[in-house]
Amino acid sequence: MNQGEILSRVAATDGTFRREGPNWVGKCLICNGPLAFDARTGEGATLEHIRARSRGGGQDLANLAVVHDRCNGEKGRRWDPRKRRSQEEYDTFVARLLNRRQERWRDVEPPRKPAPPGRT
Ligand SMILES: [Zn+2]
Repeated sequence: MNQGEILSRVAATDGTFRREGPNWVGKCLICNGPLAFDARTGEGATLEHIRARSRGGGQDLANLAVVHDRCNGEKGRRWDPRKRRSQEEYDTFVARLLNRRQERWRDVEPPRKPAPPGRT
């Protein structure tokens, strides 16, 4: 899957995002500022792992968010392991973002599959 497809899947489950022509338009999970990206290429946004992979975060949609490039960069600098911020601080920060992601959560209709043959 390319970046545009992954970002589109995340945006589809974020209630602040809507389609506008070729773009998804919504809000950055980190700063809540307006954000738009190209649904095909993902240009204009960055995929955020709310809990970083290096800290045990997964690839499930609930741990992924659409954010500005600059916000992703700032988060990276802020939580640079060399700065030795405490695990507790990091957990508090991550919990806040995961919570915001949950508040915005929107269920997506799963694609309809035809009924399997011979099972009626
Ligand atoms: Zn932002």
